[in-house]
Amino acid sequence: MKAGNTVQAGVVDWITDDIRRILAPNPSPMTGPGTNTYILGRGTDVIVVDPGPEDPSHIAVILAALAPAERVTAIVVTHAHKDHSAAARPLAALASAPVLAFGDAASGRSPVMARLVAGGLAGGGEGAHHAFRPDRCVADGAVLPCAGKGLRILHTPGHMGGHICVAFGDVLLSGDHAMGWASSLISPPDGDMGAYMASLYRLMEERWRLMLPGHGDPVCDVAGRLQALADHRRAREAEVLAALRTRPANAATLARSIYHGTPAALLPAAQRNVLAHLIDLEHRNLLACTDLPGPDTIFTPTDAG
Ligand SMILES: [Zn+2]
Repeated sequence: MKAGNTVQAGVVDWITDDIRRILAPNPSPMTGPGTNTYILGRGTDVIVVDPGPEDPSHIAVILAALAPAERVTAIVVTHAHKDHSAAARPLAALASAPVLAFGDAASGRSPVMARLVAGGLAGGGEGAHHAFRPDRCVADGAVLPCAGKGLRILHTPGHMGGHICVAFGDVLLSGDHAMGWASSLISPPDGDMGAYMASLYRLMEERWRLMLPGHGDPVCDVAGRLQALADHRRAREAEVLAALRTRPANAATLARSIYHGTPAALLPAAQRNVLAHLIDLEHRNLLACTDLPGPDTIFTPTDAG
């Protein structure tokens, strides 16, 4: 699927009366058109969500987008991937504003993933910003004052253990948890498929008017999109189980057989997504393996799977 994108990098795009979007100039196979930086609020205090990659030109555009009376009160980072978080520190210095996030790149890691890390799970860490440290950690349910409606923090682990989404009224800023044009990378041990699905179902419990993802255009049919993402993952899971019933295999072999026609540049990400499914299915006792799950592990369906 091609990334929906109707804006140019460096141009301030007013999405609503109090939400501005600025696309960073960092397009790639993984980031689509690039990272969206959002400015919430108007006229006085504003909050910046996902300042983006460390690119001085992008930071300059964010600052230039502010009216003289506007002051940045917080810089919220959805997760510690460099394409979202790397500009946080330089922007914080220039705007004299604190950086808020759930935690660092390893925060929020599930017990399942912590066990695999302790066991030496190889890989993962794509784009992780290991040096990232927020000035203040924000927990699930925290509310920050902004434009009279407040900004609510939703802890949504899955793409990363410390991933947060931001609710601004009935607008969902979904970071990398949900996008309009692609499914998110879930790369263990940063990514956790079980947690991802639980977060997705949790987002589906609320009514959203609009979803503003970290990459790509706004999504109007939020419920439909979240359901489609959940269906997509469940279909992948069924494919993984069906393939393994034919022949036990590891993540790489499965990815090659399941992701037909996937561009070569995206195959490593596909392998990580498959590994995330395998780990989740093993955790749910639908698959078995003889050692700790990892990229080279051969998985076999259990009687339940
Ligand atoms: Zn990310």
